[in-house]
This record gives sequence, structure tokens and C-alpha cells, in this order.
Amino acid sequence: MKVAVYYNNHDVRIEDRPIPKPKQGEILVKTKACGVCVADTMEWYLSPRAPLTLGHEPTGIIEKVGSGVTQFKRGGRVAVHHHVPCLICEHCRRGNFTMCSLFRKTHIHPGGFSEYFIASEIHVERDTHLLPDHVSFEAGTLIEPLACVIHAIKKAGIKAGDSVVLIGTGTMGLMFIQSLIYWGVRKLIVYEMLDWRRKKAREFGAGTVLTPLKDSQEEAARLQDLLKLNGADKVIIAAKDISAINLGLRLANKGGTVLFFATPHPDEFIKIYPSHLFFNEITITSTYSADHLDTRMALDLIAKGDVSAEKLITHRYPLENLSDAILQTDSRRESLKCIVKFD
Ligand SMILES: [Zn+2]
Ligand SMILES: [Zn+2]
Repeated sequence: MKVAVYYNNHDVRIEDRPIPKPKQGEILVKTKACGVCVADTMEWYLSPRAPLTLGHEPTGIIEKVGSGVTQFKRGGRVAVHHHVPCLICEHCRRGNFTMCSLFRKTHIHPGGFSEYFIASEIHVERDTHLLPDHVSFEAGTLIEPLACVIHAIKKAGIKAGDSVVLIGTGTMGLMFIQSLIYWGVRKLIVYEMLDWRRKKAREFGAGTVLTPLKDSQEEAARLQDLLKLNGADKVIIAAKDISAINLGLRLANKGGTVLFFATPHPDEFIKIYPSHLFFNEITITSTYSADHLDTRMALDLIAKGDVSAEKLITHRYPLENLSDAILQTDSRRESLKCIVKFD
């Protein structure tokens, strides 16, 4: 089988390896599609661990099942989530599944950018999903990223009737727009620097889409005017620029919550004015990844059409061109989701 091995964003090599055999409790999946995530473009995070096989948003057809697998059969169309929790540690007992130490250690093997992959027994047991017939393999690649969006919405405590500011409308931002509408938010104000993405934000249902003003104080005043409130109940920052984070911190109402969703470079930092947080009871929070409850809801929203997954996919690549897909994802040039398609 062909496997893509990542060294850096410009250097991805195709290797030939034997197709693995599923052991007890495992399944072997023939990959049909796999999404390219922004996390697959973060060289500072990936290169020190290279060579490695990426791809954590895969869908495919079950080719073989190991002994003891009863809930899935050969031929099943599935999406597999790459991280699974132990369900019994301190973090899991508190519902913080993404903080479980097993969660980060679990992976599909060798990864989604491979013609076949193995899902382990606990992957099969806890976070492997049959795709309904009308959900395509392509649409299924959006389950994991949408699950991350759902995880963030829950963590921010967003409720029906809230006013929400969203900063950044890449693929994740556009899924936030659709999910927040599903959640019943009362007012949604969206900020985006790029023209093309502002247009997309409107297409995906955002009513008010703004280019942020240079001066964040002036922006806060404009927002107050729009909301007839001192700021938004919840602010989601889905852009990795420090300027976006600084703006977001200005736009929360008293008692509001600001959620950091995108990951800046680890050397970047922000200034915080604790007195502002104190007197206004502002909560700052963030989310990493998504758990097995979020993936179930994500599949549901895609299956029912509350989130239109296929419309988010703008570029499709063969495995051999994975490096191009990574560079396209990183460039933000008129593209949303890039995926790798297999025959
Ligand atoms: Zn991802
Ligand atoms: Zn655990």
C-alpha cells in the first residue's frame, strides 16, 4: 500500500509498505478520503517529530475485521476518530476526555494519509461510526473538525439567545457559523480580514460580517452600537493571529466568555489586564480537539444537513500531491477544506 510520510510541508514522500492485518478487536480500513487540517501545516509542531504519517480526518470502507469484532462488518462505510479516551482516569471521570493521557497517545495506524489504516480495539469500541448511505466519504471527513467546533461551543457555555462574536471564517469559522445558528444564538457578529472569506461567511448564513477596525477600542464601540449591549456574551477566536486575540478580548460583555480556538505559534504571547477581567468578570477559556460525544453530534448535524459539509470542500488531491494540499491549506488563498481522495 502507498503511505505518505511527512518530513516538512514541502517534503512528503510516498513509501510502499505491506498492508497490515487487523489483530483481535481491530479493523482494517481502505481509506476513501481524508481531510487536511490546519494542524497538518504547523511545521513547528510536526517537523521535530518527523518522519511521520499524518491524517486524522479519514473515512473509508472496512476491508477486514479482526477476531471478536461484532459491531462492524466488512464493507461497512466508516469514519474513525483518531484519539480515544480511557474513560476511567481522573480527567475522564470529570468529563475532560481530551485531557486524558491515553487520548493523545492513541492514533490510527499508520494514519489517514495511507491507502489502508488500522483502527485499534478501543477506536472500534468507542469512536468509529457507520456513515448513513446519504453521507459521502468526502462529507464524512468533516466529522472530526466539526466535532472540535461543537466541543468549543459546549466549553464556552453558549446557549440559545446568546449574542456571539466570531473572529475568523476559515473552514472552522464557517462551521461555527452553521453550528451557532443551529444552537439558536440570538445575534451573531462575524469578523474577517479577507474579502473572499467574508463573502463565504454570508453564504453560510452569517447576517453581520465585518472587517475589523484597526483600533480595537473603536471596534468595541461599534459592536456596542450593533448589539445594544456592552459587548457579546460569548466571543470565539478562530484565527491564530495575535491581533485577533487582542480584539476578541475587547469585545466580550461583562460576565462574558472568550474562547481561544486557533493555535498561535508557541513563542507568541499576549498582554492581559487582570483588572479588566476582574471588574468585568470575563472568563477566558480554550479547547483542544474533540471527544467521542462531540463526534456523534457532528455526524448527526452533517447527516441532517444542519451543517453542509460538502460545500466546505474546495480542493481535492491524490495522495501523491499531499504536500500541495498542505501548502494550499496553509496559504489561505481562496480555499476552504482541502482533502486527499483515494480511488
Ligand atoms: Zn483536524
Ligand atoms: Zn482517561
